[in-house]
Amino acid sequence: MVSIKGSDKVCGVIGDPIAHTLSPLIHNALALEMGKRAIYVPFHVKAENLQEAIKGAHALGILGLNVTMPHKQEMFNYVVKKDESAEKIGAINTLIYEAEGYKGYNTDAKGLKMSLEEEKVEWKDKNVAIIGSGGAAYAAYAAVAKEAKSIHIFNRTTQKAEVLRTHMQAYFNVPTFIYAETDKCLEQLDIVIQTTGVGMGSLKNKKPLCTDMVLSHAKVAIDLIYEPQETLFLSRAKARGCQCINGFGMLFYQAVIAFELMHGIKCHKESVLQIKEQLLK
Ligand code: NAP
Repeated sequence: MVSIKGSDKVCGVIGDPIAHTLSPLIHNALALEMGKRAIYVPFHVKAENLQEAIKGAHALGILGLNVTMPHKQEMFNYVVKKDESAEKIGAINTLIYEAEGYKGYNTDAKGLKMSLEEEKVEWKDKNVAIIGSGGAAYAAYAAVAKEAKSIHIFNRTTQKAEVLRTHMQAYFNVPTFIYAETDKCLEQLDIVIQTTGVGMGSLKNKKPLCTDMVLSHAKVAIDLIYEPQETLFLSRAKARGCQCINGFGMLFYQAVIAFELMHGIKCHKESVLQIKEQLLK
């Protein structure tokens, strides 16, 4: 029997759809390991009910919420404060309870950074390619922009890449170049971060059109997709001898940071690594 006490805290994740989410698995494992009396549950919230859901969550005293597709941008309308991490990425993925309402954060860029650091990837003074210009590309840009030598964005719709560059240039001054998917880049690209949905779901057997060109000199290839564990993009990178990293590390560490914000604690590194290993199995 599940034993829930009256003093236990409730946290959760909201999105539409939500059934696929791995966040409850990660957060509940962290709570158990860190000795926190808290449960974390998925909430299926449709766009038309978002405002009511946030109001209700606050009234119920829900301690923290993660926010997933398609609500990450819309959430700016329903928070009373926002952290710089949310402003930079232009999206909110974590809400933390405060007396007057929720404060919005974004833990995706830091999560990706932690995953790259764990894999000993060095991006300082490197030429970094980012494939895509959606929400995940904003997080990838913010993760590497401070130290990278240059950033090269490849996207199907170049106007969206322009919007990304303009937004980011308010925060970072790294030289940034934009390409259509089939444009040739003359710079030697050291690190490639694949942030599109090409390689998963109905696009599982596809790879971005620029794959072979961007990988021609790369030493490291990162795909933010984690299901499948190895996309066609990563298998091409592997065949070329690149260090290959999928999106599980980013997913895991953004959840760890959100957990720390929700509970106001710092997790022990050893416990975090142990949980990560268990989840990977
Ligand atoms: P999004 O905002 O919808 O952006 C999608 C991106 O993919 C856009 O750049 C879009 O190009 C491109 N794209 C989609 N279909 C394409 C196609 N058929 N051919 C070429 N380009 C295509 O989505 P997102 O939030 O950035 O998420 C993208 C991926 O990142 C998803 O697979 C998601 O699971 C993953 N992700 C992982 C994590 C993690 O923690 N590991 C976190 C966030 C997201 P256009 O601009 O031309 O439409």
